[in-house]
Amino acid sequence: APYRVVDVHELLDSTLLMLSGKIGSRIRVVKEYDRSVPDVPAYPAELNQVWTNLIDNAVSAIGSTGEEGTLTVRTAREGDRLLVEFRDTGPGVPADIRGRIFDPFFTTKPVGEGTGLGLDISWRIVVNKHHGSLQVESVPGDTRFQVLLPLTAPAP
Ligand code: ADP
Ligand code: MG
Repeated sequence: APYRVVDVHELLDSTLLMLSGKIGSRIRVVKEYDRSVPDVPAYPAELNQVWTNLIDNAVSAIGSTGEEGTLTVRTAREGDRLLVEFRDTGPGVPADIRGRIFDPFFTTKPVGEGTGLGLDISWRIVVNKHHGSLQVESVPGDTRFQVLLPLTAPAP
């Protein structure tokens, strides 16, 4: 997929629509979009894969509680970078595994359910391909995966 200037909200909306079946009715989706953020130079298909991986994880985290929950997708401008944050009300990432969740094949899911590749792939797309950053903040009931993308990226 080509490198081009992307409307991040359009991309997020299309990913959310694609995943609406998986998200289901027990999860409320809240969009906190800052409509004033500029378009960002990016590989849209790859970013779509990042959103998909992070939303998939949020949905299974909320699902593991057996209760209803909320997925909040927020955008904001942070200086010369665009923040895209995925926040869920699931149980959180335990502190003792936080350093390993981005490792390839690391998963806490049963065999056949998780490959442990989602965050590894997302890391490579965000950090290596877009020169951005990917970080997590988590306490029980409030987990945030934050993608920061440079608004003016060097040519690929
Ligand atoms: P997989 O989803 O196949 O397990 P990932 O690389 O996507 O692989 O995630 C690795 C691990 O990180 C998960 O198994 C889970 O333990 C943890 N994790 C990821 N996202 C979340 C989240 N939103 N809430 C709690 N734990 C998470
Ligand atoms: Mg995953």
